[in-house]
Amino acid sequence: MSKLKIIGLNWKMNPLTLSEVKVLVEQYNQIQLNPNYEVIVFVPDCYLRYVRENLKNEYIVGAQDVGNYNGVGAFTGEVSLQMICSVGAQYSLVGHSETRKIRNLSEKDIIQKLDSCQNSNIIPILCIGYGQLSDQIDLELIKVQVISATKYLESNGEIIIAFEPVGSIGTGKVLEYDEIIRVVGFIKSIDSRLKVIYGGSVSDQNINNLNQIDILDGYLIGGASLKPKILKTVLTH
Ligand code: PEP
Repeated sequence: MSKLKIIGLNWKMNPLTLSEVKVLVEQYNQIQLNPNYEVIVFVPDCYLRYVRENLKNEYIVGAQDVGNYNGVGAFTGEVSLQMICSVGAQYSLVGHSETRKIRNLSEKDIIQKLDSCQNSNIIPILCIGYGQLSDQIDLELIKVQVISATKYLESNGEIIIAFEPVGSIGTGKVLEYDEIIRVVGFIKSIDSRLKVIYGGSVSDQNINNLNQIDILDGYLIGGASLKPKILKTVLTH
């Protein structure tokens, strides 16, 4: 493998306690990382500081969403980018399909979040996708989402796209490989500078096959990131 691959590990709203975080961090630290991978661990905000201070330095730490506010202010319940940055985050997911649904985010909200990242040291991983696996892939929708990322690139911001078909997330069903190649190829045809990773039920069962897809720049892994045995296979491949 010649190019550096990006592996995003999304813990989602896990684990339940700091004691469990400690165990997970110890397990992560025992894994000898493959230097061909850049591994970013996306943890709940409340664990950011602990994870950054205790995870070995080869790992990068990120947040799972960015708020709509910068700096400080009277915005009870909000967390600003500068705050997550100060406790060790270097990246953040933006517009994960679960976050879009829970927080009822529009494309306008996503653009606002990207704008906030522009003024910070946080690199966004913009999550885009479409509905269920049985749905026709809506390339027009994907194009609208990708345009936000290309505008971001134009203004010299670093950005990564995570292509995540919603019907693949947490279902054990990976999108057909031909479809992954088609959509990722389409995204890169809009701007060949974009790095695109795939997310949706990536595990040790399918990583060997997924690694054959040359056009991919890496993966965003949810459920499997909490199971260090599986993680070891993925990261040391
Ligand atoms: C995700 O949370 O982005 C994800 C892809 O989840 P999973 O790997 O569990 O499908």
